[in-house]
Amino acid sequence: TMYRAKAAGGNRYELADARAIARHNLTNCLPTALENGEFFIEYQPLVRLADGTVRGAEALVRWLHPVHGVLGPDQFIPLAENTGLIVPLGRWVLEEAARQARAWRSDGEGPMRVNVNLSPSQLRCPTLVADTVAVLRNAGLDASALCLEVTENALIGADEKELRPLRELADLGVDIALDDFGTGYSNLSYLRRLPVSTLKLDRCFTRGMQQAPADPVDVKIVEGIVSLAHTLDLSVTVEGVETGNQAEHLRLLGCDTAQGWYYARPGPPERLHTLSLADAAS
Ligand code: C2E
Ligand code: CA
Ligand code: CA
Ligand code: CA
Repeated sequence: TMYRAKAAGGNRYELADARAIARHNLTNCLPTALENGEFFIEYQPLVRLADGTVRGAEALVRWLHPVHGVLGPDQFIPLAENTGLIVPLGRWVLEEAARQARAWRSDGEGPMRVNVNLSPSQLRCPTLVADTVAVLRNAGLDASALCLEVTENALIGADEKELRPLRELADLGVDIALDDFGTGYSNLSYLRRLPVSTLKLDRCFTRGMQQAPADPVDVKIVEGIVSLAHTLDLSVTVEGVETGNQAEHLRLLGCDTAQGWYYARPGPPERLHTLSLADAAS
């Protein structure tokens, strides 16, 4: 344990070692976890700032580990990425989320969209376009009901050939969002080349607006990004909205869509049903 490692005096080394063992164990049980149905998805609503209506939800995967309990994606996505399991896992998330989006639509809840995260390995997978088309067809879902989120870091340095699958998906009507925008290195000319329709602004830019007075530098940055995005015909989604103060300020700055604990934490799909019904009633 951590306590013992410290008492033994060799703290850092032993601690790192213990973590490596934990990682190793998790890595070993990842493949069977998928077969055993230990993964599940929580959905977090995406809210249109102009009128507060729920436009869709982001699918966020979790692992109900038989020993460790619920693990968040930060604890296993990197391992799945290293071992290649991310490809079948990501496909499962996509299938499940598409099925769910279809169910929301059948419940008569209007144009409910679903956002799914795409990892770098999935981007490089040669069957990405065909798989995605098949998933949409099997779910009976329009391409426009799906948004794929790709991190800025996954796209940095990608050439035209590597971008082709994303462009094909965009041409089919799938929305592509640039996730964690602002955290990587990408210049503006690069942005023009990408087949994206949405910028998803990382939480770090909106944190300074949680309480009044807002951090003036953060305000300037968001203002600049919104103006750039709208010039390029891109919509702006802001992450990590935790207070009403922040939501109102971001709305005034012209951000289009918001996501965060202020509206709802990620939760089971049924909860989204309640949220949008409440929405329709108001
Ligand atoms: P992300 O795509 O940036 O997702 C947003 C993260 O911010 C989620 O963490 C969400 O729970 C959290 N969050 C949402 N609202 C707030 C808020 O108001 N305040 C704060 N402090 N946090 C908020 P989560 O669920 O732990 O996911 C972490 C990351 O794991 C995601 O970051 C995404 O990159 C990755 N991930 C999740 N699901 C998948 C998946 O199915 N496939 C892949 N490849 N990656 C996934
Ligand atoms: Ca995301
Ligand atoms: Ca993000
Ligand atoms: Ca983020």
